[in-house]
Amino acid sequence: MSSQRENPEYFDREYLEKLQLEKLRQVLERVYHKVPFYRETFRAHKVRPENVKSLKDLEKLPFTTREDLRAGYPYGFLACSLSPLVRLHTSTGTTGKPKAVLFTQKDIAQAAQLITRCIRMTGARPEDVFQNMMSYGLFTGGLIFHYGAERAGLLVIPGGTGNTERQIEMMHDFKATIVHITPSYALYLAEVMERMGFSPRDDFSLRIAYLGAEPYSHATKGRIEEIFSLDAYDSYGLSEMNGPGVAFECKEKQGMHLWEDNFIMEIVDPETFEVRRNGEEGELVLSTINREAMPILRYRTGDLTHIYPEECRCGRVHRRISRIKGRVDDMFVLRGVNIFPSEIERVLMSLPEVGRNYQIVLERKGGLDHMKVRVEIKKEFFGGSFEDLKILQNKIKAKFKVELMVTPQVQLVEPATLPRATGKAIRLIDKREI
Ligand code: ADP
Ligand code: ZN
Repeated sequence: MSSQRENPEYFDREYLEKLQLEKLRQVLERVYHKVPFYRETFRAHKVRPENVKSLKDLEKLPFTTREDLRAGYPYGFLACSLSPLVRLHTSTGTTGKPKAVLFTQKDIAQAAQLITRCIRMTGARPEDVFQNMMSYGLFTGGLIFHYGAERAGLLVIPGGTGNTERQIEMMHDFKATIVHITPSYALYLAEVMERMGFSPRDDFSLRIAYLGAEPYSHATKGRIEEIFSLDAYDSYGLSEMNGPGVAFECKEKQGMHLWEDNFIMEIVDPETFEVRRNGEEGELVLSTINREAMPILRYRTGDLTHIYPEECRCGRVHRRISRIKGRVDDMFVLRGVNIFPSEIERVLMSLPEVGRNYQIVLERKGGLDHMKVRVEIKKEFFGGSFEDLKILQNKIKAKFKVELMVTPQVQLVEPATLPRATGKAIRLIDKREI
């Protein structure tokens, strides 16, 4: 029993939940007294911290939304004074005010510790050379991951994004073994390597990739593993919850362990907001229970996933979430059918002829919605005759019809002709007028 209490990854469930409740109650007391937003919304919902007597009572509390965080910009959610603060990060959102997250020294240490836990779980060792190809600066993917990797004793190359040829040279010369990268940048990276005359499989020492920050399909993950000959692990996080290190795949690669000693998770129906308990899909809601500067309660992440209720074969107590299907607001409706861009990717990447990039364009013509999918085709399939291309186009259309019940217009394009992303990819262009 005592060893179970020493390593938080292997706590027993009962102990973990006891700890969660204890920490939650402390957080509630603090925010009630220190954060006017929480005091006011608790009052409006007629709840007081002492009304939360069990984990289930969390449901009595109101949600915190992105709009709330934006309205609280810059310091509205702070539960401490300015003096213990050491760091500011923001979300990558492109419109409106960003969501700002503030950290104390202890918060940074805690976030780094979670990253250390994640990367050790995948077999990273102090002799590994780790190239962090996520944006440094306000985005959490660079610095937060960096601190955790250093803490684990890895040699860290803070590559950031862009400057790709230079990064490839360093990756080659310093024999980087682990990379942290967005899936879209990973595919672009392979392309540039090939252009430079390298083989992504044979000329580098990569053995592990951490892929995250944007939705991608299982098929894309498989392709990245194949192209570079490495093990890819899914990594989930969001700035509001420290950034990366919220949930991470273990070696079993059957979903991501969400660190329940730091976050309490719930899955809610995205429309009614009722809590779903049976492993059904819904919106992930997270409460921080280990954060000093900016505790956030019942945060609606907007991300769709489900919980695997059964214990993982690795024996860790923290429950797993499934690959993120996308954001609730990424979904678009095409002639009455609800579609997530990630489903389109899944269909495309399951076809061997399809290359590494695609784009979805939505248009309205004559009152009707049309979807055009522009798809890069692999070099070896492009040389063929017009007839062959026509057959391929029809094959892709038919696959969409069977799998998603929509028939897009399919435009085949040459490899490496669609726009590339070094950060998060923009796949969907919606030209329809509201
Ligand atoms: P922004 O909300 O501006 O994109 P972040 O940079 O904090 O801010 O991005 C966090 C979001 O990125 C998550 O809410 C989720 O939608 C997406 N994301 C992060 N990791 C993954 C992942 N492994 N799979 C799918 N989506 C992810
Ligand atoms: Zn596991």
